[in-house]
Amino acid sequence: VKKAGSQYAGQAQPVKQTAVLGAGIMGGGIAYQSASKGTPILMKDIKEEAIELGLKEARKLFGKQLERGKLTSDGMAQKLSNIRPTLSYGDFGNVDLVVEAVVENPKVKDAVLTEVESQVSDTTILASNTSTISINRLAENLKRPENFCGMHFFNPVHRMPLVEVIRGEKTSDAAVAATVAYARAMGKTPIVVNDCPGFLVNRVLFPYFGGFSMLVEQGADFQRVDKVMEKFGWPMGPAYLLDVVGMDTAVHANEVMAEGFPDRMAREEKTAIQVMFENDRLGQKNAKGFYGYE
Ligand code: NAD
Repeated sequence: VKKAGSQYAGQAQPVKQTAVLGAGIMGGGIAYQSASKGTPILMKDIKEEAIELGLKEARKLFGKQLERGKLTSDGMAQKLSNIRPTLSYGDFGNVDLVVEAVVENPKVKDAVLTEVESQVSDTTILASNTSTISINRLAENLKRPENFCGMHFFNPVHRMPLVEVIRGEKTSDAAVAATVAYARAMGKTPIVVNDCPGFLVNRVLFPYFGGFSMLVEQGADFQRVDKVMEKFGWPMGPAYLLDVVGMDTAVHANEVMAEGFPDRMAREEKTAIQVMFENDRLGQKNAKGFYGYE
């Protein structure tokens, strides 16, 4: 951890207008969270269907608050109006901070980040929600790398309090300050970390998944391991958590970690998680992982 976020508090420029690129699982969640806490957000995607799905999810989450009496129907309409769906960069000129949450592909992210940089003002902060791509690497193609950092949310965005703010070599204090301030305004707990494979959370989580995988490979019953970890006090065990994360995502992230920390993370033989992935047991996303979800 580089510095506690509070050290940047005095330097933050106000973040009043925001945007998110990508209306998928994460982009939709980020739009909901921002709107819910009162910061207007443009939600841009390249597909109309994606935007519809993002909005549907936001309506569902606000609807739950309505049912619980935490929101009136007027209040819900007002919060929903904080999300402005769009397929174009039309209104990006007034945006203070953009969160990029498009697919985890460096080429797509490069294209999207350079495109959005040409549409925003010189002071707009760009923050990527990438899980595995280096922030310094993504900054290479940008004209204003000082305005760029990582802003890594966890899934589901509305429930997970932590946000990793990743400081690249060229990221300015002002960009970190604004991103920390925005995370706080969203009701989240930001931490400021350096750019490295796995940032902070995945550097802890993936060795844990590796330890779990070895237990299974040595014959342990995954359900029993899950129960033990629940009794230990964790909200869910590793097998269930892997089903939530997705075996494809876990295999990819593990490769990035193994490349970054070969002495600790690389293994010659196939892991149980890889075997699951190769057998199309992706987890909750295709209704079959360690557990079944029919
Ligand atoms: P997703 O596939 O659900 O959504 C990606 C969205 O990006 C899609 O709606 C797609 O149409 C859109 N998109 C693609 N190209 C675009 C473009 N040029 N402009 C605008 N939108 C475009 O993916 P996701 O799970 O939401 O992941 C998004 C990012 O968040 C990735 O970088 C991922 O690594 C990261 N992330 C994901 C999770 C997770 O658990 N899903 C957690 C933390 C971070």
